[in-house]
Amino acid sequence: MTQPTLLSVVGLLAQSGVAVLIAVVFGGLLRRYWRPYLRHWTYSWIGLAVHAGAGGIAILLSQWFPVTHPARFALALAAGIAGYLQIAWLVLGTGELTAGRALRPRTSRLLLAGLTLLGAALVVAYGWDASRSDLLFTLRVTVRRLAVALAFGVGGTLISRAPRIARGIGRRVVMASFLGLGVQQLLFVSLTITPSLRASFGPYVAALGLVDLVLYVGLALGLVIWLLEEERQATMDAAARIERIAYHDGLTGLPNRQLFINQLGMALHHARRNDTMCAVLFLDLDRFKIVNDSLGHAAGDVLLQTVAERIRSTVRGEDSVTRLGGDEFAVCATDVQSPDDAVQLAERIITAVKRPIVIDGQELFVTTSLGISLFPQDANVPEDLLKTADAAMYRAKAQGRDVVERYVPEADQGALDQLDLESNLQHAVELDQLMLFYQPIVQSSTGGITGIEAMLRWNHPTRGLLMPDEFISLAEATGAIVPMGLWVLRTACAQVQEWRDRGQDQLRAAVNLSVRQLQHPDLVGHVEQILAETRLPAASLELEITESIAMRSSGRAVDSLRALKARGVRVSIDDLGTGYSSLSALRLFPIDTLKIDRSFVRGVPENTDDSAIAAAVITLGNTLGVNVVAEGVERPEQLQFFIEQRCAEWQGYLLVRPVTAMECEKLLFDNSSDEPSTLPAAHSAAL
Ligand code: C2E
Ligand code: MG
Ligand code: MG
Repeated sequence: MTQPTLLSVVGLLAQSGVAVLIAVVFGGLLRRYWRPYLRHWTYSWIGLAVHAGAGGIAILLSQWFPVTHPARFALALAAGIAGYLQIAWLVLGTGELTAGRALRPRTSRLLLAGLTLLGAALVVAYGWDASRSDLLFTLRVTVRRLAVALAFGVGGTLISRAPRIARGIGRRVVMASFLGLGVQQLLFVSLTITPSLRASFGPYVAALGLVDLVLYVGLALGLVIWLLEEERQATMDAAARIERIAYHDGLTGLPNRQLFINQLGMALHHARRNDTMCAVLFLDLDRFKIVNDSLGHAAGDVLLQTVAERIRSTVRGEDSVTRLGGDEFAVCATDVQSPDDAVQLAERIITAVKRPIVIDGQELFVTTSLGISLFPQDANVPEDLLKTADAAMYRAKAQGRDVVERYVPEADQGALDQLDLESNLQHAVELDQLMLFYQPIVQSSTGGITGIEAMLRWNHPTRGLLMPDEFISLAEATGAIVPMGLWVLRTACAQVQEWRDRGQDQLRAAVNLSVRQLQHPDLVGHVEQILAETRLPAASLELEITESIAMRSSGRAVDSLRALKARGVRVSIDDLGTGYSSLSALRLFPIDTLKIDRSFVRGVPENTDDSAIAAAVITLGNTLGVNVVAEGVERPEQLQFFIEQRCAEWQGYLLVRPVTAMECEKLLFDNSSDEPSTLPAAHSAAL
């Protein structure tokens, strides 16, 4: 064997060994990182290993076997096909890497089949005898080297350009190795086709093989670095995402309360150092809950997002904005020169929010109530600034909404109390702090108890027993009334049904309804469910609606009442005479009972006007076939009057104040052990 032949055999086998090593490295990386392009690159280097190995053995065999020997042909064919498959897989992998997705299976198959055929055809057409360095063989080798150079060159360029590939050292090393391997092939080609060059370069050909080795090692190393960099980037992205979720509001993307408090803390620090002012603006959308209830939550979400965007674009870049939850937002404005500055900013925000918002083709107008608190005048820590701004916002709401208010320390004790009450109110139901008191409704003709009205009380942990006028309107405003009202309904129905089961089977439950409950889309469903749960017959439930609520109701509220009435539930107009309604307007309502307000009852029988009004209502009720109840009857003369006027029923302190269930039970059952209905002493006295 000549020395050059021996050298090329050893060189090819060494190249094959290195290619196997690289294939093993890529295969390992593939299993670890699962990048699809690594599979094709692994195949590509296996292809190279087969190509170089088969080529080397073929040259070795040429020493002993003739060129027509099938073993030599087979080896040459394997080397030729593997050499082109190497290119095909290299292109497929690089395409996958730079495009971010696999080529279509059809295209891949075509490429693989086409290059396989090309490799085989070139072997058959241009001879397979590597030892014969004639022109045909040289041509065959040159064509393949050019194809490899092209594949590496284009691949390297694509890798350097692909925008979606993470930039870093690893990527650059891989790219440089690709380009280097491409240039190597071109060098080999020029050596093959220019004998003069080969002659002068001869001794350094071995060095070229070494460069090849370095480039391969660089490629593998670069890829490892690249994958590690990608992994690090992915970890950092995930951490950033987690931080975003933890410190931002998902709906609007604004910082959440915690982040806002941090930002506010930094702003205060800055203001303290530079001796400047800071303002906290607390915003609450007016009547947002109505939009949410009537147009649905999706519309409510769009509304909140729009409002968030408008606030964001109204304030300066360095001011922070947060959504505190629900329809509440806050702004921290830094470097405020004077209180007027803050008020002006507040007005700009209110104006921005007030612009019509179109949702589902419907124009909405949202107003905002806004409270301002200033550092250092009103408070000097973030939480207190927020609290005082909130208290100022409450005053703005009380002023009639769509208003800006500054924090005023003395005026706000009430608002702070209110705030405190409000936050407790949200949990009153869960904490089991609500109580029902019961007041009997008495039939005038017999003195028997025919109904029981449930009166809500709140057993507040620090303030003691609170009456409805201390918390119902607040519960209305915050929406807490809905769960509270359901609790009242369920408890009252269950209690009255228990008394009915024990013999008071004519008893009805009278339950007061608030506006919110009346407008609630699920009112009918809730009532039906509670009746089913408690087994109270529909006809034994009377829902009381004050006259003023009835007058303001329309649409859904009236439909709900009609639907309830169709199911047998009774409807009563409470506090009649206080709502300035004409009785004819009330005819729109499906009414069973009218309750004369106690403000008229108080003047009966001495005050002739009150007496005349009461008498007229009773007459009207009787002609319309509606049950009339006099409420707030305190004295025997009053009862006397109502009995004489043939007012069907009454209730009042004359019999008893609203009492606990236990006391009410005594009234219901103690007077007569076997006769359910009772004849109260007060009633007998009046007769
Ligand atoms: P209302 O429905 O007109 O209830 C009658 C109110 O008059 C009760 O006050 C009752 O204690 C009081 N009262 C009864 N007899 C007399 C009397 O002879 N003289 C005087 N001066 N007062 C008498 P309360 O319990 O403070 O309730 C006030 C209002 O709060 C109720 O007026 C009702 O509108 C509302 N309310 C009570 N419970 C509930 C409830 O569960 N839900 C809703 N939405 N409102 C409720
Ligand atoms: Mg009532
Ligand atoms: Mg009343």
